[in-house]
Amino acid sequence: MKADYAIDRRQRAVAERLLAYGRTSRGGATYTRHRTAERFIRDNDNAFLFGVIFDQGIPYERAWRAPYVLKQRLGHFSMRRIATSSVPALRRVLRGTTPGGALQRFTTKMAVWLRGSARLLVRDYAGDAGNVWNECSTAGEVIERLDAFPGIGPKKAHMATRILHESRAAHGFRRWSDINVAPDVHVRRVFVRAGLVTRGTYAEVLAVAARLNPRYPGALDEPAWSIGQSWCRPSRPDCDGRTHREGRPCPLRSVCPRTSHSRLTFGY
Ligand code: SF4
Repeated sequence: MKADYAIDRRQRAVAERLLAYGRTSRGGATYTRHRTAERFIRDNDNAFLFGVIFDQGIPYERAWRAPYVLKQRLGHFSMRRIATSSVPALRRVLRGTTPGGALQRFTTKMAVWLRGSARLLVRDYAGDAGNVWNECSTAGEVIERLDAFPGIGPKKAHMATRILHESRAAHGFRRWSDINVAPDVHVRRVFVRAGLVTRGTYAEVLAVAARLNPRYPGALDEPAWSIGQSWCRPSRPDCDGRTHREGRPCPLRSVCPRTSHSRLTFGY
């Protein structure tokens, strides 16, 4: 039987506050805390695609900086050359030569994914990730194409399509309703504590987001993620912003029921 995700007034108030917070920060998000690496993922579509693939199980700044460091270590960023590299050779580059220099926790898996993605780019998109999304008219098509890349999958495909839509302004996809949230640990934690969902399963978060903002569920993603990063930490939510770098209270403070102050971590 299909679950009935009825939405009440309090949940609507939380969603409206999330959307308002998202409107103030949209497009201004930075991913790397490194100016040159940031420019690289913004200006180079292949670097953006690799950033999406790296963004798994490690802090996001480290993941999105990785394409730039990879280019420096390789001495090129040619998809054709990466596509014909051996996995051990790529893995060595990903590991680096100094302690703590690995670009990812899972270097073997990442080498397989990057080589596989480069091969798909060369075979189907003339070696240019821009051709993955520039030819699409709907968000759903972009999501479907990205989902086919090794190391991406549905969750990251939604996240990447939302970033393309919001931050890389040239992409005027139709049917934004196709873009849902990418329920990572931060989004799920905020959805639970703010009383939008009860258990925080993927299915529940996706269904509730679609009910709360049917024209564009994905608009709830960045603000929920940002609040999870800055205020609604796993072990102890900082609703009043006591440890926030600007001393600002959580944007949801006046509408959030704060259903749980206990540690909420969720698995990847
Ligand atoms: S008000 Fe507190 S519990 Fe609610 S989302 Fe913000 S930090 Fe989390």
